[in-house]
Amino acid sequence: MFSEKDLQSLLDYSAQNQVLSVYLNTNPAEVTNEAAKLQLRNLLKTVDLPKDIQVVEDYVNLEYDWGARGLVMFSEQEADFFQAHQLGLSMPDKVSVGERPTLRPLVRLMDTFSGWSVVLVDKQGARLFSFNLGELGEIEGVFGDEVKQTKRGGGNAMHGRMGGSDASGKVENVIERNIKEVIESATDFFNQHRIRRIMIGGTDDNIARFKEALPKSWQSLVVGYFPMSMTANHLDVLEQATKEALTAQIKVNQALVEQAVTLAAKGSNGVIGLIDTLNAIHEGRVKTLLVSQDYEQEGYRCLGCGYLNVQEIQSCPFCNNDFGKIETAVELAVQETLQKNAEVKVIADNPSLEAAGHIAAILRY
Ligand SMILES: [Zn+2]
Repeated sequence: MFSEKDLQSLLDYSAQNQVLSVYLNTNPAEVTNEAAKLQLRNLLKTVDLPKDIQVVEDYVNLEYDWGARGLVMFSEQEADFFQAHQLGLSMPDKVSVGERPTLRPLVRLMDTFSGWSVVLVDKQGARLFSFNLGELGEIEGVFGDEVKQTKRGGGNAMHGRMGGSDASGKVENVIERNIKEVIESATDFFNQHRIRRIMIGGTDDNIARFKEALPKSWQSLVVGYFPMSMTANHLDVLEQATKEALTAQIKVNQALVEQAVTLAAKGSNGVIGLIDTLNAIHEGRVKTLLVSQDYEQEGYRCLGCGYLNVQEIQSCPFCNNDFGKIETAVELAVQETLQKNAEVKVIADNPSLEAAGHIAAILRY
């Protein structure tokens, strides 16, 4: 599976010429193999890198087993570089050529779909899942003692067998004991798998009981709830988790965009638009970069310090070096921000961000 480490190695890759990046939707539920191949051929028509096209087409026609929902390839044949990554998620088709591998779609998928845990709970126990880039791993089931349901207030029928009014008390004790055990296993699991976000499925009662019993630090990571049966199959859990993750991401991103726009309007720690954002990135002030998935601009980059600008200037205001023209200033800005360990949110279909100039940032200071 694609990992943070893979992303870092792509960020560190220094191309000598032009890199071809290909994102292809191969989800069998959405597209046939033949249609995907045709789509690829059409997209590659705009590219003038014959050796790279050959390698990409050979991989798709001869090596790819069509087992994944999405296929990502990077090629720079001048430097003998080729990588293919298979993902459990479908993605919009995209072909691009630039000074670096195009990473924004991957950054978006990782941000939306990695570091999740899905917990299904009932009175007796829980099923714990990891959910990463469209892959659902069921790691553990925790099951305590069976909870024998009693009818509340139905004392007469119970009397002889379970000792009358003690019965419901006993049931509560069993539930208490079970939840304690479940919480212990769940928090171990969250720690081990470096879980950053949690969604819980079950009945309202069971979800509330589980959340209340969680230590506060974990409670704050719970961002989704949904009704689901304890016996749900993997496909149902996967579909629901995908939906919840997308919804959660849209909400988080919308709040961040509004924050950046408000801060920028106040002249405080926020910027909007490409020019101001590029300056803030260069100065290392960006805490969170917000950028449209498909926004791109030509620009100029200082050959000395890497300062990015959209205008051609005689010499760099920071180091006096000359500027070189680049075709993908926005993609470079994204990668520079990631290299500086700031957060990057790649956002699709957000009218507020488009209105703010397709790019904005929340600043550290
Ligand atoms: Zn410079």
